[in-house]
This record gives sequence, structure tokens and C-alpha cells, in this order.
Amino acid sequence: MQTNRVLILGGTGDARGIAAELVGAGRDVITSLAGVTEQPLWPAGEVRRGGFGGVEGLRQFLVEEGIALVIDATHPFAARMSAQAVEACAGENVPLLRFERPAWKVEAGDRWISASSIGEAALLLPPNARVFLTIGRTELAQFFARSDLSGVARMIEPPPMDVPPQWEVLRQRPPFAEASEAELLVRHGISHVVSKNAGGDATEAKLTAARRLGLQVVMIGRPAKPAAPRFSARADLIRHVERLLSP
Ligand code: NAP
Repeated sequence: MQTNRVLILGGTGDARGIAAELVGAGRDVITSLAGVTEQPLWPAGEVRRGGFGGVEGLRQFLVEEGIALVIDATHPFAARMSAQAVEACAGENVPLLRFERPAWKVEAGDRWISASSIGEAALLLPPNARVFLTIGRTELAQFFARSDLSGVARMIEPPPMDVPPQWEVLRQRPPFAEASEAELLVRHGISHVVSKNAGGDATEAKLTAARRLGLQVVMIGRPAKPAAPRFSARADLIRHVERLLSP
């Protein structure tokens, strides 16, 4: 059994960055992707795809693969995977570190409306709003169900449901720049941006563009995750990983 093998729970640019750094330092790294994106950006090192089969499946994986350390670098909204990682790692006595990029914070000039869930965000939009939806492709139903709403929904892969005629789907992958985001918002006559509070630079430009244009942003707050040692700076996380692993 290998004793220094690191499992990264991925699906984010942060996870790819961490994998690249650890592989570059000669570490034995396997990244796990949920398998929901058909053509994911591929991390450095070994990669596996698909769910583990709940906590029990992950526990079995940790044992079978001789995992010495788990880094949860999933998206801030991937709450189930993070909770299962906490439980599985505790069960197998494997250390778990979480990388969590800081949430976006409201700044001068922002016009944010806070929502605690996707469903609440859909309810908070005023009648006949022109909406820029930047949420997951499986999370659109409650917006599409409101016949008074229209606008643009952006995602990497096509939505799994029929798109009402008053909505346009844009398939794009981050990062995005402020100028092109502002141009998109103006061209489509957008009145409201809907966003999860993902944090990070890659998708922040829609917020600065909305601020500049005086548009309202319905910001969906992060789900709670069970406690785990957390790092918001990659360098700090890597330093801690190197301390935990033997040379
Ligand atoms: P989730 O609700 O927390 O997890 C649902 C199930 O998907 C988990 O129970 C697990 O299946 C499987 N899963 C999730 N992440 C996995 C991973 N890295 N490796 C293997 N299995 C994984 O997760 P989600 O919100 O659907 O997100 C799925 C993936 O997309 C994550 O990797 C996340 O980092 C990425 N992502 C999510 C968002 C978002 O807004 N939620 C945005 C960008 C990227 P089993 O129970 O079978 O193990």
C-alpha cells in the first residue's frame, strides 16, 4: 500500500491548481471528478470519475487506494460531497483538509438581494425581470416555470430540460472579463443577475459589470458544510500538506 497518496475531491479550477502544484512537487495525486461535465478540464496527475457511492463507497476507496490525505477542493455549493468526505475520513482516520475560496462580499455601489436557496432566488425576482442566470444547468426549472421571466442562462453544457422560448442559453466556460460581461448585460437588456456566491476571480466580472451598470444581483448564499480544517490561500494549504506527508 502507498502511504503518501493524496486524494483531491475536485471539479473546480482550485482543485486543478492544487493538483498541478502537488504533482509538480513529485507527489502521488489522484483527483476525483463527479463525472457531471462531459469534457472536463483535466487535472495533472491521476484522475478518476463518478460518485463513490456515498460515505461507505468513499471509505472503501480510501482503504483500497491507500489514501494518506484527502483535500476537499470541491465547489462551495457541493455540500453533500463535503459532508460525506468529513464522515468517511473520520471513519477511516484519514486527515482531511478543505480548500475554500473566500465568498464575494458586497461592495460600494452593489445592489444585492440575498437569497438562501435557488428556489428563493426565483421567488425574489420582480415580475417581468430580464434575468442573467449563472447557476447550474440542473437548477433552472424554477426560473423557467415563471412565464413572466425571460433572459439568458449561461452554462458549460446544455440544460437537461426544454428551454422556454423567452430564454436564450449561452454555452461558455469561465474565466470572463468585465468588458464582455457588461456588453452581454446591455445587449440582452438584463435587469437582474442571479448568482451563487461561489467566490473567486474567474466569474467575478459579472458582479463588477452589474455594479457599473447599476443592476440588481440576486446572490444565493453558500450552504453550510460540516467543520474541517479550512484554507483559503493555496500556498497555506500546500505548506500544510507538505507538513502532513512524509518526504
Ligand atoms: P454534491 O451535491 O455535493 O454531490 C452529489 C454527489 O455527487 C455526491 O454525493 C457524490 O456522489 C458525487 N460527487 C460530487 N463531487 C464529487 C467528486 N469530486 N468526486 C466524486 N464524486 C463526487 O455535488 P454537486 O454540487 O452536484 O457538484 C458536483 C461536482 O461539480 C463537484 O465535484 C463540484 O466541485 C463541481 N461543481 C459544482 C458546482 C455547484 O454549483 N454545485 C459548481 C461548479 C463545480 P456519491 O455519493 O456517489 O459519492
